[in-house]
Amino acid sequence: RTRLMISDGRHYCIAMTRSQQSPLVYSLIRIFKSIHQTIKDRHVLMLATWEIASEPVEKIGSPVDLSEPKSEPPPQVNPSSTNSSYAANKPASGYTPQKDSNGGYGGGMDDPATKRITSISGLNPYQTKWMIRARCTQKSDIRKWSNARGEGQLFSCTLTDATGEIRVTAFKESVNQFYPLLENDQVYYISGGAIKPANKQFSNVQNEYELVFDHNTTIRRCTDGTHTSVPGTRYQAIDLSQLGEKAKDDVVDIVAIVKEVGDTSSITSKTSGRAFQKRELVVVDTSGYQVRLTLWGADAENLDVRAAQANAVIALKGAKVGDFGGRTLSLPMSGAMALNPDFQEAHRLKGWWSAEGSRQTFASFSSGEMGLGGSGMTRDERDAASFRFLAEAKAENLGGNEKPDYFGARATVTYIRQENFAYPACSSEGCQKKVIDNGDGWRCEKCNKLFDAPNWRFIFALNISDATGQIWAQVFNDQAELLLGTSANDLMALRDRDQAAMTAVFNNVLNNTYAFRLRAKSEIYQDENQIRYAAMSILPVDYAQASRHVIKMIEQLEI
Ligand SMILES: [Zn+2]
Repeated sequence: RTRLMISDGRHYCIAMTRSQQSPLVYSLIRIFKSIHQTIKDRHVLMLATWEIASEPVEKIGSPVDLSEPKSEPPPQVNPSSTNSSYAANKPASGYTPQKDSNGGYGGGMDDPATKRITSISGLNPYQTKWMIRARCTQKSDIRKWSNARGEGQLFSCTLTDATGEIRVTAFKESVNQFYPLLENDQVYYISGGAIKPANKQFSNVQNEYELVFDHNTTIRRCTDGTHTSVPGTRYQAIDLSQLGEKAKDDVVDIVAIVKEVGDTSSITSKTSGRAFQKRELVVVDTSGYQVRLTLWGADAENLDVRAAQANAVIALKGAKVGDFGGRTLSLPMSGAMALNPDFQEAHRLKGWWSAEGSRQTFASFSSGEMGLGGSGMTRDERDAASFRFLAEAKAENLGGNEKPDYFGARATVTYIRQENFAYPACSSEGCQKKVIDNGDGWRCEKCNKLFDAPNWRFIFALNISDATGQIWAQVFNDQAELLLGTSANDLMALRDRDQAAMTAVFNNVLNNTYAFRLRAKSEIYQDENQIRYAAMSILPVDYAQASRHVIKMIEQLEI
């Protein structure tokens, strides 16, 4: 049990804590939960939950003994004695520095020399004056946008100190001002800017607040030698096996071993028309899983391939979870990567790899159809994760890889190719091969059998549209039967009997909106690689579910 003297600037009293933390004299502490007791007529606070909010500051005010209001301030205690520290308790209204006689703030809040440093974990929107000493990581490129409301630009980075991390964004003119000042892995004194509740959608930085640089912001490189006390990137790494519980687009930290390194390949962005590099790795960890990781652009090109091929430890900050073919990872621009980083978990992994990992076989999340590996996901989440607008599916180049991609869409049937809606198939069980009318019957080459009549099976193309675009989708027999409510044999018979009645069957479907499950697959067609779509299922739209999904999408637009 530790005994402290705490002060809020006006009064001081004794505090007791069982915590192992021992703040230095004049540290600011934040008390979340405490119990008041009176011991021998003296006020004593039993601190249940509290934290050190900053390194030592100057003494605040001239506090008097809470138990004897008229007494003198306490004598100076020996700063080396941490067991009876005099620590300043931060007032709930936020820490306001006392103006000194010169009208300045205790020697200048903006002067690093005073070492009046706020911890990142202590930053909150109620603070007016603060300065952090932090390492810059995950600095992004400048992103520009232009829309109906105008043009803009932004960049972001993460600031880290021993107590925590915070996401920072700069917009507009602040980008020009601060982008050149910050370098990844360097330490800075930073003060000023707006502290706001964090938008968790874009990062997994562990802070309920984020910082926006503005005209009050000052940034100064830390050149006083104290930078070594500021740790680098903080990883809240999860095991690869835990990816099964993550949803698409979740952001995670991973520390793993590189098992395989692919070559770079060039990809052309369908949206911007820009070419960029892509590289795939396979990473594994002690959880016994292996996962495919995609690096883009500079990350793909500048990878130290030799180190990676030697089964480097790879640490990923802010990697994005994908669900194509089970679970995959990719490193977006906002993420950061380090090979063979120097921290304990990395060394432990390296040891595990040489001792046993390299001889182990690994499980993977891959499955034919995406989403199925998403154990623990509700139907809503699974469907929302795989939902694409048709233009999105094209822009993302779904189906552009060796394996087909599957996605969901809500689209309206705008046209049906009725000319050859069915083909004559073999009637043998399990054989669907096309049969040929050779005059005395329908012949199956595969079964080497002759049939009096073919078994007609549907195959036709639908043109479907949503608000963003249109595609042609192939429909096969089973789905077509459900869609049209009739068999191909019956419809062929109807065509011969009553052409108008047959057309009516198709028109019944025209202009209806359905929930499609689509497969996108790369196929060679007339010597050209084309992405072809097929309808795996066509169901009535569940409008309640669709509404929940749209509401979610609208919520995510609020930045
Ligand atoms: Zn056959």
